[in-house]
Amino acid sequence: MSKNIFKPDPMLDNALRPKRWEDFVGQEKAKTNLRIMLEAAKKREEVVDHLLFYGGAGLGKTTLAYLIAQEIHANLKITSGPAIEKAADLASLLANLEEGDILFIDEIHRLNKMIEEVLYSAMESRMLNLVLGKRSSTRTVQLDLPPFTLIGATTRMGLLSSPLRSRFGAIFKLDFYELEDIKKILKNNAKVLGIKISDEATEILAKASRATPRVANRLLKRSRDLATIEGKDEIDAAISRKILELFDIDEWGLEATDRKILEVIIDRFNGGPVGIKALAAATNEEEDTIEEIYEPYLMRLGLLERTTRGRMVSDAGYKHLNLYHLGKKGEQKRLIE
Ligand code: ADP
Repeated sequence: MSKNIFKPDPMLDNALRPKRWEDFVGQEKAKTNLRIMLEAAKKREEVVDHLLFYGGAGLGKTTLAYLIAQEIHANLKITSGPAIEKAADLASLLANLEEGDILFIDEIHRLNKMIEEVLYSAMESRMLNLVLGKRSSTRTVQLDLPPFTLIGATTRMGLLSSPLRSRFGAIFKLDFYELEDIKKILKNNAKVLGIKISDEATEILAKASRATPRVANRLLKRSRDLATIEGKDEIDAAISRKILELFDIDEWGLEATDRKILEVIIDRFNGGPVGIKALAAATNEEEDTIEEIYEPYLMRLGLLERTTRGRMVSDAGYKHLNLYHLGKKGEQKRLIE
């Protein structure tokens, strides 16, 4: 499963996307503040301020954009930083907006700087400055844009330029989810998928979900597959344990790459500190993937520490790996006996 577990899967994401605020579990602070903004905008008959959501992959940024659009009866147009290759692509998206529309730009930190500049005046004064013509005879045309809301989403706040950041009316940080919230999501979605799930299985899958709804949904779906194959009408503890084993995910949701990162730091860099470039080269992973996907969760569990001199495996990290390997050996022993 490896990286796939974090990758958006439009079919699955949409099928299990909450359609009502009540079903959007957790993130209470963001939810409360957002709803105040929406209510106020509705009362004043104004468009909602530009919003920025930041937080790891699969934590609910796109889902919030859908819920907002639904709440204010707005059209939601979805694109992403990497999909906008030229300033003209963005200009055409903006020029086609209608009053009240919401433009959602995922991975907004990946917009190139030239393109980003087109956004500045669009966001600030609803003006689209277009440069027409070729080198010798260029002219600038200004186009008025209708009132609209831009929702940006990013996994990497640090990579967003400060002029862009400052043009958002509000910034919301989405955190990792509490275990109880992930359990609730699993229970709700088991119902949506038409399968029962035992309390023990819910606990096992929730702990291994990396505090991330998208991962929980994936594990749930795979568990349902296994239940179907085994002719069971319930995901029980045995099924959920088997799923983790099949995908080489440990009790706390660490997978092979997480362990490789910890092991490489210990074996090749004496436990750290090590810089991101050296770590990426030694693990054969991309820097971005390590920083966006693996590191935040390893740090949340306290297995990895980030210092000014680089990454270090913590005492808990050493212990976790030992336990994992001991566990594996124990299993092998049991099998041989
Ligand atoms: P992001 O845009 O942050 O990568 P998404 O909004 O696409 O994440 O969410 C990924 C999946 O997780 C979706 O299927 C969504 O329904 C589910 N999900 C995310 N946040 C929640 C939540 N708070 N409650 C219930 N399901 C959620």
